Amino acid sequence: MTGTFAQAVREELALWEAAGLRRTLAPPQGRDFTSNDYLGLSKDPRVVHAAKEALETWGAGAPAARLLRGDLPPHREAEEEAARWLGTEAALLFPSGWQANLAVLSTLAREGDHLFSDQLNHASLIDGCRLSRARVQVFGHHDLHELENQLSATPDSGQQWILLERTWSMDGDHPPLEEIAELALRHRALIHLDEAHSAGLLPPKLPHEWPVATRMFTGGKSLGVGGAFVCGTRETIDLLINRARPFVFTTAPPPATAAALAEAIRIVQREPERAERALAAAARLRKKLAAGGLAAAGESPIVPVTLGSEERALAVAEAVRSQGMDVRAVRPPTVPPGTSRLRVVCHSDHEDEEIDALASSILEAVDRFPISPETRIATAPNPSHPSTQPWVVCGTDTGVGKTVVSALLVRHALRQGESPSYLKPVQTGPDSDTSEVLRLSGLEAAPDPVVSLQLPASVDQAADEAGVEVRVEKVHKGIRSHLENDPGRRWVLECAGGILVPFSEHEDQADLLALLKAPLFLVARSGLGTLNHILLTLEAVRARGLEARLLFLVGEPHPANLATLTARLPGLPIIQVPLFPSLDPASIDAWLEENPLPEFSPIRL
Ligand code: PMP
Repeated sequence: MTGTFAQAVREELALWEAAGLRRTLAPPQGRDFTSNDYLGLSKDPRVVHAAKEALETWGAGAPAARLLRGDLPPHREAEEEAARWLGTEAALLFPSGWQANLAVLSTLAREGDHLFSDQLNHASLIDGCRLSRARVQVFGHHDLHELENQLSATPDSGQQWILLERTWSMDGDHPPLEEIAELALRHRALIHLDEAHSAGLLPPKLPHEWPVATRMFTGGKSLGVGGAFVCGTRETIDLLINRARPFVFTTAPPPATAAALAEAIRIVQREPERAERALAAAARLRKKLAAGGLAAAGESPIVPVTLGSEERALAVAEAVRSQGMDVRAVRPPTVPPGTSRLRVVCHSDHEDEEIDALASSILEAVDRFPISPETRIATAPNPSHPSTQPWVVCGTDTGVGKTVVSALLVRHALRQGESPSYLKPVQTGPDSDTSEVLRLSGLEAAPDPVVSLQLPASVDQAADEAGVEVRVEKVHKGIRSHLENDPGRRWVLECAGGILVPFSEHEDQADLLALLKAPLFLVARSGLGTLNHILLTLEAVRARGLEARLLFLVGEPHPANLATLTARLPGLPIIQVPLFPSLDPASIDAWLEENPLPEFSPIRL
């Protein structure tokens, strides 16, 4: 390793450590209240026997990809069992659910299509969106209203796809699937359903009239084995066999995996009481926790116990584990910041006494590690402002009106009853932006920039001139410390110019935005030349899996540009901001009174 790389690795690890987010691998210990082996099939003698037999007959591994010499009878058997069980024409086995989701989205969603993805979808669905060439819009978790608005605002060109987990992996809650199917039918949209956590627990067959084009079942959860199936029509599966890169270019799953899966599917169908027992155990745990004053949501074997800060979730998990019960804390980025939790999983073989002991242990540990005042602010449900994620204001260029829009957002937050603050993380040239925002918004104070450089130039050039290096991680750390010190506050962060402004030879502003993962408020000029800048910027935003929440066009209205942008950017609210004759808080307020900002959904990552 070169010195700089080793240093970069060390610094990044230190950053995760400092944020309480560094993970270490830990082997299983104690009674299992964590794994996704909901039905206890991973050690079922019949499943293990099927795997052993296949090992003896077919060898330890498949010798090649399926399309070469890797297509063995156990693969076909597992696929036929899966298709029969789920009532679909065909199924295709993948080495993992991750690959299966990537395969569906990168193959079936094409350029010109529109993907509508639940905000809390699993990382494999998010990465599948990134790999597809379709446009992606994110709707609030199970928020039908927002989904409908997005579907309606999107032109009828290209195929629309709705992407959902049938049971959300973290809370075990289910989307209102019947309503979503109706909505999809009305908009001629298709659904891709991730059934990682519903397989074997919810009815396997779906009504035929629902426009569910593809379903993804993992074999490593309730089936206790590994691998995953994509199910759909014969032709859809044939297309995946031919075109899906995560299928074509990978070695077939071991035949023992396939044989074990086929056996596990047969058992799941023959023994529905396994699912019933897992659900009953979870219901008992929820009841016991509720009796102790701890609400746990969900309707599946997953029982989420939300505790707020990472530290608290870790401490409670550790205390319960020390009593021989293996529960683990789930922290960002797996769940949104401020919602770290225990993700307790009940299994079909958990006895009532074990569940009762677990409930007592959790309740006792939760009392021992009370919620800290800061966490209370960060996690207390605040119905009017459910999220205090920062709003990040980024321009398509320099001098397009970011500072005025930042002030406008601060005023907007104030008018909403929030307690906003402003930060310009990286300032080049004299710091007139912060003082201008203070003057326009009426805020009394704002923190100094994390990095301040004298030369009014791009960040890398100003840093060169000052003989320093601006590291994205350090800027991010500086921002996070403000956010974490004052978690109830709505931070308006103003970027330094456009999204790809270089910070150094190797890093640019987009790297910082990718770490922040906060919604962008894009500011552009309204007149000639802006279309290209806006569309390029949004392409870069999308390519990094970021989201733009609002687009501000600043300057003399330009109706033709507005019309083009409205048609090209379905679902993105566009706000025309005038050149204010006199710039002061009163005129901004008067304008906001006349032009209230449209609702933009709170973001939960
Ligand atoms: N989707 C969801 C909802 C998941 O929870 C997971 C695994 N955690 C996957 C897909 C990926 O499945 P696999 O582990 O088989 O790669």
